[in-house]
Amino acid sequence: MNNGTHDEFAHLHVHDDKSLLDGQGKPRSYAERAALLGQPALAVTNHGNLHTAMEHWKSCNSVGVKPIIGCEFYVAPGEAENKTRADWGPGDPDRVAEDGDNPGIGGRGAYTHLTVLAQNSAGLRNLYRLQAGAYDRGFYSKPRIDDSALAEHSEGLIVLSGCAGSAISTRLRLGQQHQASVLADHYKQVFGERFLIEVMHHGIPFEDALNRDLLGLASRHSLKVVATNDSHYCDPHDSFVHSALLCVQTQSTLAKPVFQFSGSGYHIASRAEMEAKPLPVEALDNTLMIVEMVESYDSVFERKLRFPAVELPDGWDEAEALWALIEEGLESRLGEVPSDYWDQGRYEHKVICDMGYAPYFIPLHYIIKEAKKRGIPIGPGRGSAGGSLVAYALGITDLDPIVHRLIFERFLNPERKSLPDIDIDVDESRRDEFIQMVREMYGDEFVAQICTYGTIGAKNALKDANRVLGGTNEKGLWYSSQLPPAKFGRSPSLKEYTGPKDEVYELATGLEGTTRNEGIHAAAVVMSPVPLRDLLPLRRPGGDSSEPWVTGFDMHEVESLGLVKMDFLGLRNLGIIDECLRVLTVRGGEQLLLPCLPDECNDRATYELLSSGFTLGVFQLDSPGMRGLLRQLKPSRFDDISAVLALYRPGPMGANAHTEYARRKGSNAGWKSEWAIHAELEEALKPALAQSYGLIVWQEQVLEVLKIVCGWSYAEAALLFDAMRKKNHAKMEATKPEYFASGKSQGYSEEALGELWGVLVPFADYSFNRAHSAGYGLVAYWTAYLKANYPVEYMSAVLSSVAEDPDKLPGYLEEVNRMGIPLLPPDINHSGVGFSPGPKGIHYGISAIKGVGEAVFNAVASKRPFSDLDDFFRRAPAKALNTGSLGALIASGTLDGLTPYREELWFAREALSGRATRDRQERRNGQKPLYRIAYGVGNSNLKSTEQRQEWERTYLSTVLTRSRVDLIPTRALTEDELYWLRDLLLRNPGDHEIQLVIGRVRLDLPSANWPVVQQAVANLGVFQ
Ligand SMILES: [Zn+2]
Ligand SMILES: [Zn+2]
Repeated sequence: MNNGTHDEFAHLHVHDDKSLLDGQGKPRSYAERAALLGQPALAVTNHGNLHTAMEHWKSCNSVGVKPIIGCEFYVAPGEAENKTRADWGPGDPDRVAEDGDNPGIGGRGAYTHLTVLAQNSAGLRNLYRLQAGAYDRGFYSKPRIDDSALAEHSEGLIVLSGCAGSAISTRLRLGQQHQASVLADHYKQVFGERFLIEVMHHGIPFEDALNRDLLGLASRHSLKVVATNDSHYCDPHDSFVHSALLCVQTQSTLAKPVFQFSGSGYHIASRAEMEAKPLPVEALDNTLMIVEMVESYDSVFERKLRFPAVELPDGWDEAEALWALIEEGLESRLGEVPSDYWDQGRYEHKVICDMGYAPYFIPLHYIIKEAKKRGIPIGPGRGSAGGSLVAYALGITDLDPIVHRLIFERFLNPERKSLPDIDIDVDESRRDEFIQMVREMYGDEFVAQICTYGTIGAKNALKDANRVLGGTNEKGLWYSSQLPPAKFGRSPSLKEYTGPKDEVYELATGLEGTTRNEGIHAAAVVMSPVPLRDLLPLRRPGGDSSEPWVTGFDMHEVESLGLVKMDFLGLRNLGIIDECLRVLTVRGGEQLLLPCLPDECNDRATYELLSSGFTLGVFQLDSPGMRGLLRQLKPSRFDDISAVLALYRPGPMGANAHTEYARRKGSNAGWKSEWAIHAELEEALKPALAQSYGLIVWQEQVLEVLKIVCGWSYAEAALLFDAMRKKNHAKMEATKPEYFASGKSQGYSEEALGELWGVLVPFADYSFNRAHSAGYGLVAYWTAYLKANYPVEYMSAVLSSVAEDPDKLPGYLEEVNRMGIPLLPPDINHSGVGFSPGPKGIHYGISAIKGVGEAVFNAVASKRPFSDLDDFFRRAPAKALNTGSLGALIASGTLDGLTPYREELWFAREALSGRATRDRQERRNGQKPLYRIAYGVGNSNLKSTEQRQEWERTYLSTVLTRSRVDLIPTRALTEDELYWLRDLLLRNPGDHEIQLVIGRVRLDLPSANWPVVQQAVANLGVFQ
């Protein structure tokens, strides 16, 4: 990379795009530019964080530039804990005037800046600790350190006095020479030679005076001076993009920016450019002296396995502890443990221990055990971990891999060392509680969520570029419409842009990919044996210590340190199942045990439901396409559910494997010879493929086939399988001769083996992890079972889970309607927060009423019951009596239990709301009001079905007040009739106002075509 030139200068004050929307460049481009200039080293000093440390270190190393890692910290003006704004006084009025700039403390008195560099590994770890401490102790507008924290962690740090916003510069600009001297003395005492006075020059009016003062201070205190360039972008021509980025951040335009840098030249400059500035040459030379001082950070970034610490009984090692758990687990699960389980358990135990992964499994066991003890629903298993008997024995999964025919090597391959990756599903509504529990168990300092970084995508880059250049919103939409739509959830890049390559496009290319915001990974949690702040940078949103830590490194960087991440994913359906089971138990039923073995999944009603395709609300099976496939395939056993989940994906569907599976299953002939891949292989492969009618549906089957035909172990088979799946052609070709040789030695012909190879290669790609489809298949079966057998309780739980999701709620309400379950209006005295099942149907949940929500419900619930309307207006909480909430309660019919006059109340709602509030006031003032509300005049003219339906559509997303059309006598339609009707509707598009329930199917018919509908219904013979 280095072009052989030498440049006698190094940049020690650099912001990349992790100084969010302030720095513009990527670490990689900075490093490349430093290399191009021939500079020996390059520092990074982002605002308040070290999130880019590893990336900067790697980028610099890859281009032969010495990495220096630092931070421009925010420093509290006093103690970090003191969360008030400081005022350092007006200072010398002459000085302030001369500056022509307000030299007040940054963040309106909240912080100053300080440049701190790590001299070595110890220093870098101290920077991490300082950052975490800034969130712990000093968060006030920004994460702030203070001078005592800095002194405490001074080892291995080099301190530069900072930019114009630093404490020393601020004091000098205020004319407070004495305080500046005190500060300089303090830093010199703590850091000695490692404290230098920083000078920079960007052509800002007050700089010359400030630099004069800084140099004077340096000479008075015998301090060395070092020159920096406050770099916020890479090349000079990036200045424009950087200005645009500041406008993106401040929502302004380049023509009328809210905030811009004063001065210029905030890029990675050459020595010659630096020499052109009025800065002492010695200050430029001293950058090289600092480069010399800085040592390697390699040990900080070293990869070594760092599993969470495990407490062991005296004298035990981890292998023994794991075995004890396996033994205990197998015995409690199976009672009398068959010998093949012991064999498999011993084998897996050896593999796990040889790979050093025992301390990964043990904590997971305790975590899941504790979660179950607390009643937090956990999924039966997802991903390949279901293949592990040890995971089953330890209660981490609930899948018996031997019965489900899952393969351990698909999860952990002793032939190929990779970290184990176990994903755990947790009831979504209790995931926060779960993570809180893990923090309690392992310690706040040892557990963190993993961050994500959002970048500016092509679409937003175009929109932002257009906007900051002054274009209208419509124009912005037009630019972004010149991109192709997202494919498979992947957003397009500017490379695919087809519009004009004008200035908007040019600017967009500069903005694309810039880090825009920090987020938190939806699943990943990292657990460490040592406090995480010793290993990596940490932040805590808003400095709130009730929240878990979040790493500053992304997932890959965290893993590259050898730290283990665990994925705890939120799954809504686990909460639905749990709620349904709870209701059934409360009702006096026995605790319902959901089956985990394929043979136990044998309920007839469940398979009837699945075959009917009426699976809205069934886990993983409720999309329209999936429901069509279910109708076609008519599942009759657990394997079919597991197969459907594996087949309903683009790969197998592209190859028509899903319809082929349905066709072969429908032929109902046990096994057919034509299904054999090759006659020679038929008998041998039947045990592996018969259950899927000769098709390869699951990845585990590829391993089984290779094991049978080549006589390989699963571990050996898994190596070839991985190459096939990842389309690693080189590896596949390399293994091919071995495959043929092994196959021939098992007695198979070249021809048969060739044919099999031709089938395996594409299927390895299409096939799906059986462990995952079995785990998810179980959840799907459970939900289908509950829907089929406990429809009211189940659908009620489904509705509650989407009560506050306006996109999902209407569809499920529709389904409840179709199922013929009466939906009862919300009732102020009886309804729960969510939907609740009762003997007459499902009661509408109060939180699901638009404009009400959980807070209002909770306030109302604490005052129930209300004896009548007067009582309600007297005692209901204020939250429920504002015009909005009151209107929603009235219109939705929630108060119908207290009065039949819904319409009258509605028209009087504003007066009633005001009156109730006034009365409350008077009561507080000690007057007893004579309370009487004039609402009770019955005016039947006001009552209208349409009005009520309209309100219900608005507030409940469904209609509860029935009209005559809903009451047509019904019978089930045949499939042909259904299609006929559907075509009829497609040919006659209308506003679909009239809803007709025919059989168990509900249809929306166009009102404009009433004669057509009547004719259709007559043809169907519905009215008999
Ligand atoms: Zn600064
Ligand atoms: Zn800076």
